[in-house]
Amino acid sequence: MRKKISIDLAERVKDLPPYLFAAIDRMKQEALKKGIDLIDLSIGDPDIPTPRHIVQRMKKAVDDPAHHRYPSYEGMLSFRQSVADWYKRRFNVKLDPKTEVLSLIGSKEGIGHIPLAFINPGDVVLVPSPGYPVYPVATLFAGGKSHIMPLIEKNKYLPDLKAIPHSVLKRARLMFINYPNNPTSAVAGRAYYKEVIEFAAKHNILVCHDAAYSEIYYDGKKPMSFLQAPGAKDVGIEFHSLSKTYNMTGWRIGFAAGNAGAIAGLGKIKTNLDSGIFQAVQEAGIEAINTKDSVLSKIRDTYQERRDILYKGLKDLGFELNKPMATFYLWAKVPKGFTSEEFVSHLLNNAGVLGTPGNGFGAPGEGYIRFALTVPAKRMKEAVARIKKAL
Ligand SMILES: *Cc1c(COP(=O)(O)O)cnc(C)c1O
Repeated sequence: MRKKISIDLAERVKDLPPYLFAAIDRMKQEALKKGIDLIDLSIGDPDIPTPRHIVQRMKKAVDDPAHHRYPSYEGMLSFRQSVADWYKRRFNVKLDPKTEVLSLIGSKEGIGHIPLAFINPGDVVLVPSPGYPVYPVATLFAGGKSHIMPLIEKNKYLPDLKAIPHSVLKRARLMFINYPNNPTSAVAGRAYYKEVIEFAAKHNILVCHDAAYSEIYYDGKKPMSFLQAPGAKDVGIEFHSLSKTYNMTGWRIGFAAGNAGAIAGLGKIKTNLDSGIFQAVQEAGIEAINTKDSVLSKIRDTYQERRDILYKGLKDLGFELNKPMATFYLWAKVPKGFTSEEFVSHLLNNAGVLGTPGNGFGAPGEGYIRFALTVPAKRMKEAVARIKKAL
């Protein structure tokens, strides 16, 4: 008789922080089983379909046998060229599509892989918290150590670079920042990017700016690119996603742009691990990047209407919160007497409205709840009315 082997997880997997969202998912399933008419404001996934012209281009591209073969890991030059053209149009930043742009299987893939290219065991990665959970996990997978940079209201949710101890800076090799920010919806400007660039140059730290929400903005106030700040290309790269801008979360396409050495390092990891993006998806990506602004402003208007309903609704109910100027999230303080998780559970059970507890994005998010603007305006009004009753 052969013996079964024991399936033991590697330390790096055992060391993963508990997945808080699994608990929320359980609560959600229970609520659904009870027949609650749930308004789910917990997911950062657009409810609006991908624009038709993008879908049409994909349909045509699928028929072309040229796209049925292995793509190149760095992406089709035509896709990278359209990225470079977009950067010039949108940000007035010049990029060499051959050396300064890399296609990604969604920006999560690039964010997840970049520490493998630049982090040795024991190196420190500076990680904003609350923040996108992939930053600390990618760090862990590369054998690095996360140093948490708390995002707090007093500092406008920008990491306080002066608060990072010298002993940490000596071992720090990479930092993640993310503006417009998920989950706080904060936006960063030129002055802050300048500070980051000086800091990175002084301490020899690679800046990885996650710009997934650069095109989801309100009141016509366009967020800037990190690469617009003088010297940015000397110290860093920027990650972009087609997911949020063009309602393409399921398609898996994004890109990194900026410092050629950093792009080459990430590319080296990718050549060894994946074989690039299905070329038909890249064709659709080119179509997406060239989307007419009138289409995009309609999408923005849709979110803006929802933002106005939820922001005003919560404000009138006495919630403490800032008006989001970008992203499709609203970051609000939970009422006194509740923890984040208690309040999420209270709203779920008494209003049938689901938000995300702030501490799910890291300990400094305790005391907050995140609402996503990913349901139609009518449901948003209903959510506000129900929250009012549940308070
Ligand atoms: C959604 C999101 C991403 C990932 O997007 P992809 O679908 O992988 O391109 C990256 N960063 C943040 C902050 C996000 O919210």
